[in-house]
Amino acid sequence: MKSRPLTHIRQLLEVPAGNTKLLEAQYRALARQLPLMYLVLLINTWALAATHLYIAPAWLTLGAPIVMTLVSVLRMVRWWGQANVVPPADEIVTALKRTNSLAIVVAGIFTAWSLSLFPYGGAYDKAHVAFYMSITVIVCIFCLMHLRPAALTATLVVNVAFIVFFASTGIPTFVATALNIFLVSVAMLIVLDNQYRDFTRLIDMQVHAEELSEQNLELANRDSLTGLPNRRHFFSRLNAIIDAADADSAPLVAVGVLDLDGFKGINDLYGHSAGDSLLAAVGGRLKPLASDTVLLARLGGDEFAFLVTKVGAKSDLADLARQMLSELQAAFNVLGTTVQVGATIGIATFPDTAFNSAELYEHADYALYQGKRQQPGSYCFFSDVHREQLKRDASIEHALRKADLGEELHMVYQPIVNCDSGETVAFEALARWRSPTLGDVPPGQFIPVAERTGLIGRLTLPLLAQALDVAQNWPAPVRLSFNLSAHDVGSMEHVMRIVNMVASSGFPPDRIDFEITETAIMLDLDQVQRAVQEFGKLGCGVSLDDFGTGYSSLSQLHALALTKLKVDRSFVTDIHLKPSSCKIVKSLVKLAEDMDFGCIIEGVETQEELHMLKTLGCQHVQGYLFSRPLSAEQTEAWIARNADVG
Ligand code: C2E
Ligand code: CA
Ligand code: CA
Repeated sequence: MKSRPLTHIRQLLEVPAGNTKLLEAQYRALARQLPLMYLVLLINTWALAATHLYIAPAWLTLGAPIVMTLVSVLRMVRWWGQANVVPPADEIVTALKRTNSLAIVVAGIFTAWSLSLFPYGGAYDKAHVAFYMSITVIVCIFCLMHLRPAALTATLVVNVAFIVFFASTGIPTFVATALNIFLVSVAMLIVLDNQYRDFTRLIDMQVHAEELSEQNLELANRDSLTGLPNRRHFFSRLNAIIDAADADSAPLVAVGVLDLDGFKGINDLYGHSAGDSLLAAVGGRLKPLASDTVLLARLGGDEFAFLVTKVGAKSDLADLARQMLSELQAAFNVLGTTVQVGATIGIATFPDTAFNSAELYEHADYALYQGKRQQPGSYCFFSDVHREQLKRDASIEHALRKADLGEELHMVYQPIVNCDSGETVAFEALARWRSPTLGDVPPGQFIPVAERTGLIGRLTLPLLAQALDVAQNWPAPVRLSFNLSAHDVGSMEHVMRIVNMVASSGFPPDRIDFEITETAIMLDLDQVQRAVQEFGKLGCGVSLDDFGTGYSSLSQLHALALTKLKVDRSFVTDIHLKPSSCKIVKSLVKLAEDMDFGCIIEGVETQEELHMLKTLGCQHVQGYLFSRPLSAEQTEAWIARNADVG
């Protein structure tokens, strides 16, 4: 068994080889202090040599000091400026061990030299030797403080020699001095040990604090759900990369924004924990596509983003986007349920389509928005057309904010007819805007802008008031179909305003259908359900507009008390030439029938299309083949003529 004191002594003399941070701190401290120590040592040495110059032999007062000076200068040079260039840990260990050994040798040489001068000269000269040794060792202890073994051994060598030597002289002054030095040394060693312990503890605390702050930084930059980098990390990398890139010569940098299609519905239907586990699974499938040049992040909600540096060609980006989409194609198993989710990606590139990082992200986001509208489930590059659209959107927004809506907006009405009987069953009210600065702006342009900016809230009620006013002139059972946006049904406050206007208009509510698009429904299923119920209570019908373009599932539709489906125009165009469109329309018509919904086919333009639709069992149709949207006055003429024909 090892005795405890021995282990303790070994510890005192050890270099802390496993503790890199402590080694580095020791090395840095020594690099700053050792040159100073040698300098003081040399000056003191030459001072002692000078007082003994004519009384001691030259080899002691000149020869030895010159050799000692050479050795010291070499050591000073060795350590000079090293505080800024800390070597690897193993080299530090070697250097510290060497310094430990050298401490004994150097202390021994200087002690032996000074004691060898003692026999020469008078009392003053002898006192100088004693003073030299005692004061110089104090400097050494201080300068070697951060390397405990060196400080200890140097102190022991010098002071044991000092005490033994001076105590044995028998001269009372020197015996007293030896006693003094003994006590001072003991006190100094205690202070040294305390100081060294504090020093190691401080370094350990620093290391711990660094680890903690690294962990915090890691947490602050990571999305906890998917383990991917988060929004903050993404934007700080994006900013750093764009700041560093030179717009003239920079290789292409790209930002992609990926948004899940139909995520909200899954969240609403299966609950938030299912939504979370779906997001985690999506993150897991996308993660392998990250690389040195592709940073993948989750920005929040169901929005992911990627940052590609050093893009070779745009086709590489398209490949990456396609890969991401195909990764998400297979169904997900979420808490025991199988769900399918699509995604749309918007991509923009720097420096060709954006000037800075904010614009780069904005453009990618705009491309995503356009992609979602035009071709959900695919990827879309920010293009010159988008740039024009963005500009146009901005001027539309500007004009809309300034517009006198009562003056500039009006409604037109497109008949919906029963193609078997030729009767007009309803008119769909469609908004028209004549801006004094922009001229006629189609609703396909200003409605999305109004929706995105929230201005739609100011449009709906004046338009509804107009439409109700006009519809009063139509004979029963001709109905009014009125379009509502996501914003209109997005809060009960808006819904109640609409309900109140209908209730106080005098027009029978059971002759009104509100049209809500599939995309609006998917935004917040629960809220839309409450809105639909409220309209239902009043007696109004609710139609699902643009059906077939979104991602609603049958069960979701069933949960809503809808009354009609409006099959999107895209399935109707050239339907007689497209067997796939035929199949879709046929099954949608069947679906409406099974679910007890009415069904309206939009956008019928040709006799061929109508013929095909009739054979598929469609009854209520709407389109340019019958009539373009009509003015308020024209609707009455239309009804009159229709009645004649009927
Ligand atoms: P929507 O609700 O799907 O309206 C049908 C659109 O198709 C109308 O375009 C109509 O003029 C057009 N259309 C009708 N028959 C045909 C056809 O045979 N061929 C073709 N190519 N198009 C046909 P419009 O009036 O430009 O309206 C565009 C969209 O703007 C509407 O699509 C609707 O989403 C929105 N919108 C229009 N008025 C309002 C409104 O008062 N409020 C809200 N929230 N949205 C509106
Ligand atoms: Ca509509
Ligand atoms: Ca429609």
